[in-house]
Amino acid sequence: MEIPERGEKREPPQRQNGGWPMRLVVDLTRCQGFGQCAFLAPDVFRMRGGEALRDNPEPDDAQQERVLRAAAACPVQAIRVDRIDASDTATGMVAGAAAAAARSKPTPPPAVPPQRAGEPAADSWRASAVEAFRRGGRIVIVGASLAGLAAAAYLRREGFAGSLTLIGDEPYRPYDRPPLSKQVLDGWIPADHAGLPLIDQIDAQWRLGVPATGLDSIGKRVLLADGSTVEFDRLLIATGTRARPWHNEAEAALDGVFTLRTRQDAVALRQRLASRPGRVLVIGGGFTGSEIASACRDQDLAVTVAERGSAPLVGALGAAVGGVAAGMQREHGVDLHCDVTVTSLEGDGNGRLRQAQLSDGTTVDADVAVVALGAIRNTEWLHDSGLAVGIWGVACDAGCRAFDVNAVTTEDIFVAGDVARFPHPLYEYQFLALEHWGNAVTQAEVAAHNMVTPPGDHWPHLATPVFWSQQFGVNIKSVGVPTFADQVVLAQGSVSEPRFVAAYGYRGRLTAAVSFDHGIWLDFYQKMIEAAEPFPPAFPAVDEPSYRQPLPAQIDQKESFHATVTVTGHDPSERRAELIHIG
Ligand SMILES: Cc1cc2nc3c(=O)[nH]c(=O)nc-3n(C[C@H](O)[C@H](O)[C@H](O)COP(=O)(O)OP(=O)(O)OC[C@H]3O[C@@H](n4cnc5c(N)ncnc54)[C@H](O)[C@@H]3O)c2cc1C
Ligand code: SF4
Repeated sequence: MEIPERGEKREPPQRQNGGWPMRLVVDLTRCQGFGQCAFLAPDVFRMRGGEALRDNPEPDDAQQERVLRAAAACPVQAIRVDRIDASDTATGMVAGAAAAAARSKPTPPPAVPPQRAGEPAADSWRASAVEAFRRGGRIVIVGASLAGLAAAAYLRREGFAGSLTLIGDEPYRPYDRPPLSKQVLDGWIPADHAGLPLIDQIDAQWRLGVPATGLDSIGKRVLLADGSTVEFDRLLIATGTRARPWHNEAEAALDGVFTLRTRQDAVALRQRLASRPGRVLVIGGGFTGSEIASACRDQDLAVTVAERGSAPLVGALGAAVGGVAAGMQREHGVDLHCDVTVTSLEGDGNGRLRQAQLSDGTTVDADVAVVALGAIRNTEWLHDSGLAVGIWGVACDAGCRAFDVNAVTTEDIFVAGDVARFPHPLYEYQFLALEHWGNAVTQAEVAAHNMVTPPGDHWPHLATPVFWSQQFGVNIKSVGVPTFADQVVLAQGSVSEPRFVAAYGYRGRLTAAVSFDHGIWLDFYQKMIEAAEPFPPAFPAVDEPSYRQPLPAQIDQKESFHATVTVTGHDPSERRAELIHIG
């Protein structure tokens, strides 16, 4: 468990045989719930219900061999553990020496090389500029969490030997957030056991516990809250999101009001749940709110969920599938209120939460309220950067290159993870802002690749979105974008168990599929989505339901009535956009 001091800190070597704990992460976007790992290492991997897998990301020493065996046996190679390799130290030292030599020196401009026969001079010069950058350039990553770590690892895998600096405002090395609302909240593992493994050797400078406060994109410097600056040749923005706080500050300050986004949030909420409050009110029935309610019911705590829509998960999955989630919640003893908002939180005179008022006139007596009203993108530090940033995130192209305020792509600033907003060709080139674990990893890897390769070799971020959630013993998985739909059909299984796949379509094309304890089929749907197959799907299914008529998807389209930009100037040479920052 490491809580580095504020300021600069070098990454300590992570070696199991040197006494550091093993760390692992299961890529649950890949996991198909076969359960071999739970059989081979039952103290580390546990199945909940039919196919929901939970793991202890920091197993004790006695479990390490079993974990390695489970990782080797996983048929989809979804289990990743800290790299254990006798050559690590040497590799690290070589990379470290190269990085140290290059550190704090700007990339030297490459000499224009002699033109080879048949090769255009500009291309050849660009290639050697990239090569020089790969050897001795300076990359800074702001946001030291999932996307930041994935990018750092991938940069080293791509052979980047220059200096790498990760800046993070949290005082911890990267940890995984999905366990916070699952195995941490239900008390199986402590919050400080959710550290992410170091799968690659990533010699880096870590500036933890200090937020970036500004970006000078012309001078290529990141400004930090402690007054220092960090210069870069290329920058990755991976500052993610934070929990949306309760809108009334005085009510938010009541003892008993929580949000859940960080490790500290999880420690505080877990402690309060362990003290067995009389009733927990969860404000918002999205994925996080529903998982919190599930963890409360696992501990036999009374819980009320207040949801503005007609059902839980309705914002992400639509009302038809949301109705199934509502049934699950009620069956597990949740006091579910839909089509209501919480209008006020009230204290007892000693500053402790006592009750909440709902918009339908109901009073809920609760000593804990968890505000689960979604997330706010961490972009404020970029307001004066000249980039296209706002409540929607940081806009970028499909190659992860940030847009400037005029929506022109920048060369040296890249974006990945929850904070990014990017166009996806599968979805009519609409801009997507995804808050999914799998997207953070794959987008970070694409960004990392593109940061160290010439533009002609850039990859587009075309991964089909995938996410999972575990609640009430059911594994919910999604592929595609369910909100990009006008119809939904039950394609396989039965909603009464619930164990099914629902397929989503838009204007006659398959755009998404959502499974409840039926994740094994999602690869198949993913291929059909990527092949733009027609909707409703016309294949014979293994456990085809008797009723297979499409229904309206009933997606709650979020409309924004806020202006976010103005445009000034007359002729094309002087027309410019200016951002309006709300709040
Ligand atoms: C409780 C919970 C449960 C989840 N469960 C699931 C799940 O089951 N399935 C799924 O697919 N996804 C899940 N997610 C979402 C998933 O965790 C995110 O998609 C992922 O964490 C995104 O990674 P990121 O690195 O882009 O952003 P983040 O994890 O948000 O990291 C951004 C980092 O940047 C830091 N930062 C912000 N501003 C600054 C600044 N100015 N200077 C320096 N640092 C800064 C932040 O503090 C943070 O450490 C869950 C998330 C939460 C919170
Ligand atoms: S697919 Fe892999 S990680 Fe998932 S349950 Fe099976 S063995 Fe475990």
